[in-house]
Amino acid sequence: KFKHFINPVETVKKIMYYYVKEGYIALDCTVGNGKDTLRLAKLVGKNGKVYGFDIQGEAINNTKNKLKELGLEQNVILINDGHENINKYIHENLDFIVYNLGYLPGGDKNIKTQPTTTIKSLKKALPLLNNNGLLLITCYVGHDGGKEEQEIVEIFLKSLDQKMYNVLQFKFINQRNNPPILYGVEKTY
Ligand code: SAM
Repeated sequence: KFKHFINPVETVKKIMYYYVKEGYIALDCTVGNGKDTLRLAKLVGKNGKVYGFDIQGEAINNTKNKLKELGLEQNVILINDGHENINKYIHENLDFIVYNLGYLPGGDKNIKTQPTTTIKSLKKALPLLNNNGLLLITCYVGHDGGKEEQEIVEIFLKSLDQKMYNVLQFKFINQRNNPPILYGVEKTY
């Protein structure tokens, strides 16, 4: 049965399908198993472009192989570096940016996003967004350090000028066991 509100992963998917169009330039700041990267590559098509970052070489290589299998590798640039360094690699504006924070499911739980580098990255990513561009960031609060990271992300996003950004929080308020929190940022200038 079709449901709209299950969890942030599904909500992100829905927003992607609705928002990301053929020819768009997108950025996946946390490639991991590559699900979002693959989805974005399909949506932007041959005339678009996707940048993807991950500090784990294995995540980048696995995603590269999956893209090749689907014939989608031409328009995807995968970078084995931290998303706090996007300014070294991206010199153009972006239509869509996604972050899925925390650790790689099924991977090393000690390798996870960190508040300082996440904020550094957000500060570099937001100015790259085109007018009406969208940034989605999912924060996991259940693991060690996750709540602190979500709080710091929220403080930063709350500080954005409302004349320049619409900032929304998606929170599943009746779910138990620390459900993730999703934030959406739309650039309005
Ligand atoms: N969206 C991914 C998917 O569909 O499989 C899952 C992402 S997982 C929750 C978080 C990923 O962020 C991990 O693969 C981890 O290696 C990566 N990561 C941690 N710190 C990072 C950083 N500073 N820059 C880029 N990626 C980072």
